[in-house]
Amino acid sequence: MPHTCRNCKRTFGTELELELHLDTCSAGQLYCDECGDRFTERAATEDGWHYRCPNDDCDGKGIDEDIHRVSDARVAKQ
Ligand SMILES: [Zn+2]
Ligand SMILES: [Zn+2]
Repeated sequence: MPHTCRNCKRTFGTELELELHLDTCSAGQLYCDECGDRFTERAATEDGWHYRCPNDDCDGKGIDEDIHRVSDARVAKQ
């Protein structure tokens, strides 16, 4: 069963390939601490100010609260 990137719909043969792709996928630069999912800015906010997790079963919300930018996380690790 192929692993599909939910952001750009590319498919990969293994979960590892998908994980590696997610680090560079420009279609999903936000992630949610609550559920661990990656998604696009467009999916998370309509006005660029109020952010919420697009997953129906997750109540993560707020940029820099539950939702973080992938680029910020990389900087923090260094
Ligand atoms: Zn992708
Ligand atoms: Zn979430």
